[in-house]
Amino acid sequence: MVRKVILLFLSVMLLTGCSGASSGAGSAASGASGSAEASEARRDFFAMDTFMTLTVFGPDAEAACDAAVAEIDRLDRLFSTGNPESEVSKLNAAGSLVLSEDGQILVKRSLETWKDTDGAFDIAIYPIMDAWGFTGEDRHVPAPETLAKLLPLCDAGKLQLDEDSGELKLPEEGMMIDLGGVVKGYASAGVIGILKSRGIESACLNLGGNVQVLGKKQNGNPWRIAIRDPEKEDRYLGVLHLTDTAAITSGGYERFFEEDGKTYHHIIDPETGYPAENGLTSVTIITPDGTLADMLSTSLYILGTDRAIRYCEEHRGEFDAILFTDERKMYATAGLRDILQPTGSVTWIAE
Ligand code: ADP
Ligand code: MG
Repeated sequence: MVRKVILLFLSVMLLTGCSGASSGAGSAASGASGSAEASEARRDFFAMDTFMTLTVFGPDAEAACDAAVAEIDRLDRLFSTGNPESEVSKLNAAGSLVLSEDGQILVKRSLETWKDTDGAFDIAIYPIMDAWGFTGEDRHVPAPETLAKLLPLCDAGKLQLDEDSGELKLPEEGMMIDLGGVVKGYASAGVIGILKSRGIESACLNLGGNVQVLGKKQNGNPWRIAIRDPEKEDRYLGVLHLTDTAAITSGGYERFFEEDGKTYHHIIDPETGYPAENGLTSVTIITPDGTLADMLSTSLYILGTDRAIRYCEEHRGEFDAILFTDERKMYATAGLRDILQPTGSVTWIAE
């Protein structure tokens, strides 16, 4: 059997204008000259299994970038399932652990979203991720019996978080959690806070398709963020003009493998244990709350076209969304009317 592992880490680089690829965003570095302390700094680095780019403009931008990278590394060390020393690995091995403050916030918010999305967002998904080999190198389609056995363990409703002590219990043997669907949004939101506290007023963070911007570009215009066409790496569905917000995309094209001519991606439907195939190929959530944006991009992708549209309508005004279907139809919430420049036609929702 031929197993072909394809990890399209680089695809996400094309997603945004942060790097200047599509829009020249962040390319106004020359504006720094003349000012004694304001400057532009940039970092390209790899963390959380993802290529990341930071562009920061303001006082002491180099030091601010260093602080941002340090924060992302700190959260990566805490929450990487691939690192046996991480908090999440220790919890998964021991079955219970008093979590760090960040861990408590992440789990609490994840459980709220689990409730709110009818269980689509489920951090107890790790045993299924593992069965598919997404946690290591050997990706493969698991036997249906294996999935059937593991599915009852993948139920965030069974997790017990003691909000006084901060202890999280995984009450059943074999239960394990995975914060991969939320940690990058949490990291970008945290980094924006750190940059602000250092007096930075303009920045663009691209954590592999998870974008969060601070303020406007140096020329006073909003940041331009291109949304990738999920089927064509070099094409865009549209461009967003953003100020002080996150735009986080989930797509099955980000991490996947092929087996026997079929493609399998890493966003798992907790109802079936299989990669979600519910009509959507890309979901972008736009809201200043980066943590929410990350959780909802994963969740709405799983909920699929009809339930995602209904979710947007029921939560009108709480966030904006762009949904792209396997029939190449684009839906967007009405809040984006003035800031989304689509390349094709759009059906507006949640008016
Ligand atoms: P990415 O991290 O590639 O940007 P997402 O934010 O959509 O993409 O998150 C996908 C990750 O979320 C998976 O790699 C896995 O760690 C985790 N995950 C997969 N399925 C679920 C689910 N149903 N609920 C919560 N997390 C999930
Ligand atoms: Mg996500």
